[in-house]
Order: sequence, then C-alpha cells, then structure tokens
Amino acid sequence: MIVTKFGGSSLASATQLQKVKNIITANPERQVVVVSAPGKRDSSDYKITDLLYTLRSQFKYGIPDDGIREMIIKRYVTIKEELNLDIDIEKEINEFFASCSKKTNTATVVSRGEYFSARLVAKFLGFAFVDAADILTFNFDGKIDYEKSKQAVIEAVDKYGNIVVPGFYGAYPDGDIHLLSRGGSDVTGAWLAAFLDADVYENWTDVSGTYTCDPRITKNARPIPDITYKEMREMAYLGAGVFHEEAIAPARQAGITINIKNTKAPSDRGTFINSVRD
Ligand code: ASP
Repeated sequence: MIVTKFGGSSLASATQLQKVKNIITANPERQVVVVSAPGKRDSSDYKITDLLYTLRSQFKYGIPDDGIREMIIKRYVTIKEELNLDIDIEKEINEFFASCSKKTNTATVVSRGEYFSARLVAKFLGFAFVDAADILTFNFDGKIDYEKSKQAVIEAVDKYGNIVVPGFYGAYPDGDIHLLSRGGSDVTGAWLAAFLDADVYENWTDVSGTYTCDPRITKNARPIPDITYKEMREMAYLGAGVFHEEAIAPARQAGITINIKNTKAPSDRGTFINSVRD
C-alpha cells in the first residue's frame, strides 16, 4: 500500500486536481490520500489557510466581513463547478461560518481548509472521506495517542478500502480540534504511513524532490536522488521547505521510505529518503 500526501499547490485548482486524479488512478496501491488546503494558484493568489487565520481574527475581534468569506467559498465552489462534482460545498461552508462566534477557536476555523479540501477530493476520486478528527487522537499535552490512532486508521482502511483524509489536524479526547504546526499535513501523512506499514509514503509537491540549493535562485540546481532521514532532517532544519521536519521521525521509526514527488512531473524519480543511502 502507498500513502500519498498532496500539498496546497497540487490542490489549488481544478487543473491541478485532475493531475492528482491521474496519479492516483495510475496505481491502485495508492489507497490513502492526505490533502492540504488549496494553496496559491499564482504568486498574486492567497492560501486558503492564510485566509482562514485572518477570518478567525475577524470573528474574534468582531471586525466586519470584508469579503474574505466570499473568497474562501468562491475558491471551493469554482473547483467543484469545474470538476462538475455532485456536492453542495457552498452549503457546507456557509453552515460552518454560521456556526462560528467570537469564541470559536483558531484550530476549529483554520482546520476547515483541509476539511473542505478533502470533501471535494474524496468526491472527485470516488474515495471515502474520513475526518482526521475521527481517527487521529491527541492527548491534552498535544502528543499523539499512537495506539488509539493507529487502530482507528487501520479500521478506516479495512472498512472503506480507499480513503481521503484532511491533513494538519486531529482531535483531543473531548472532540476539540488539535491543529499541527504550519505545513503539518506532511506529518499527518507520515503517521498514516507508519500506522499502515505502507510500502512507501509519497509526498507530492511542486518540485521534483529536495535540492542541494534553492532551485528558484540557482539555475542548474538538481534534485538529490537519495538521502537519509538524518540528512533530510538537517536540511529541513536548515530551511529546505519542501518537507516538514517533524514528519521524518514517524517514518524513520516505522522504517517507511519517503518519496518526494512532483505533481506536475509525475514520472520524475524525485527524492527517496531512507535510513541508508543506496
Ligand atoms: N494548510 C496548512 C498550511 O498552510 C497545512 C499544510 O498545508 O500542511 O500550513
């Protein structure tokens, strides 16, 4: 089995989502799909997560709605319409906004970026939607309840076969949402891969792996074909933004190979992360 995770840029528009579908249907082993919230379509665009953080401040401080809700709804509705999906996402989002008050916490509001993204992706792929709050449990100190979560994840896959799970959050034992740090969908994917003893954890992004230097700055930058968990952790710590530092430990402990891949160039090999370099 392969656990996949798609980042915000892979989910930013209907065109990108079509690429995701091609990747998933190309290999039936890709049974588990973890998604981020839609990211930027171009450099002048906004990440849904950033809009949700802003919206939460507006709720909290009673700042009048200046169109942010509309921007959020429009992004999901555009994707839904372009893909012709049979789901009333507008109603779902509006109902959520109507339920918000100044007391609604950041985690609840911000996690909806991934939640609604997963609702659309599950519909598009014909996979079951499984809410991360129902399978990933966190203790009140913020640490994952490994055994409980593992059992719930295994049960969800046994029950549905193919699933889409929103990244970036889970729930405390009382049901309140626990949010991970920014970029945390990588960590969700790593846990799921570890729980399911996946053959590989594919982390799909917008570059063909991790590079020795920033490909946006240095021409002729090449992706590193193979790297160890330890080396990747150091690179992540030094600022290689392609993979979340905290996503390495769960994969390393369970001995899961990580493969960083490019949604726009799926046949590129990408970077493989293992305990030893071949
Ligand atoms: N959407 C969240 C962020 O922008 C989490 C993620 O993408 O992994 O940080």
